[in-house]
Amino acid sequence: MAAPGEPELIRTQLDEIHERFRTYGTEEVVSYYPPEAEADGALFGVAGTNVRGMQWQAGDCSVPFPLHSVSKVFTYGLALEDNGAAATLRRVGVEPSGDPFNSITFDEVHHRPYNPMINAGALVAADLVAGRDVDEKVDRILERYRSYAGNPDLAVDQRILRQQLRSNDRNLGLCYIMRSLGMITGDIEEVVETYLSACSITVTAADLSVMGATLANGGTNPLTGHRAVPREHVRDIVSVMMTCGMYDAAGQWATDVGIPAKSGVSGDIVCVLPRYFGFGVYSPGLDVHGNSVRGVALCRELSATFGLHVFADPEDARFGRPSVPLSPRDATTGTG
Ligand code: GLN
Repeated sequence: MAAPGEPELIRTQLDEIHERFRTYGTEEVVSYYPPEAEADGALFGVAGTNVRGMQWQAGDCSVPFPLHSVSKVFTYGLALEDNGAAATLRRVGVEPSGDPFNSITFDEVHHRPYNPMINAGALVAADLVAGRDVDEKVDRILERYRSYAGNPDLAVDQRILRQQLRSNDRNLGLCYIMRSLGMITGDIEEVVETYLSACSITVTAADLSVMGATLANGGTNPLTGHRAVPREHVRDIVSVMMTCGMYDAAGQWATDVGIPAKSGVSGDIVCVLPRYFGFGVYSPGLDVHGNSVRGVALCRELSATFGLHVFADPEDARFGRPSVPLSPRDATTGTG
């Protein structure tokens, strides 16, 4: 059983790590979209929520940012829910591509995009979401995302959506190629608008940590008790995060950090430690893979400090016993 005060100890360590990484790697800033180029590179927040609803925050955790590719995780969940695992797998695979997020490559053998965490696969997942038209699809996506976050105010940022629709040739190109190959059946403008609307939903690092915690908690939001995704799909979602969530840096991430995660080009990362907690990181400034520079460094440090690497031997000196427990199994004193 955890000693009283341990949640405070976690907060202290989190603050200390956050402070240490505040100025890390800021010279490497890369941006892909006008709104991101405008984003304040000094913003830096990390929040963690465990499956009992306890939450920790450090830095800028109430600043809204667009989910971008982090949305792929949750839209994939809805595609699985709407179509079932087998029919979804026929349309989009679960194999890491080893290519960048916007790569124009496909699994030729199975005649589908490699996985739903890169743009090609996410566009197919958007096509798979049920709904009569874009509005209905986006409404259903929003409703689910709100449920993951326990935040009824989540919304599509229309300005960001318009900006994305204007600088979107590559996603359109991907869709046209996929339609010519029979991988997409719907109207291309609708598919792209559905996908980019999901990318333009804004959250905070605190929201994102709850969304991650919902997956860690088997699909039920630990704050509200509401189910966001059927339990049977959670394993598939989190597995594909582990193998494909960090694009062509997924292998390095699995080795260094060892937590299922997904990044987006706004500089956000969601991490899911099944049965324990989720965390959300926001820090603009990307590396060549499109992953947040400070976010990746911070997660590596959190993993080491708190012993979170899912494949690490607990006796391994680098990933030793957590100095303080972050898991509900150990920490029984939190009040949430
Ligand atoms: N909205 C972006 C796109 O579709 C998302 C890309 C990303 O976050 N990697 O290109």
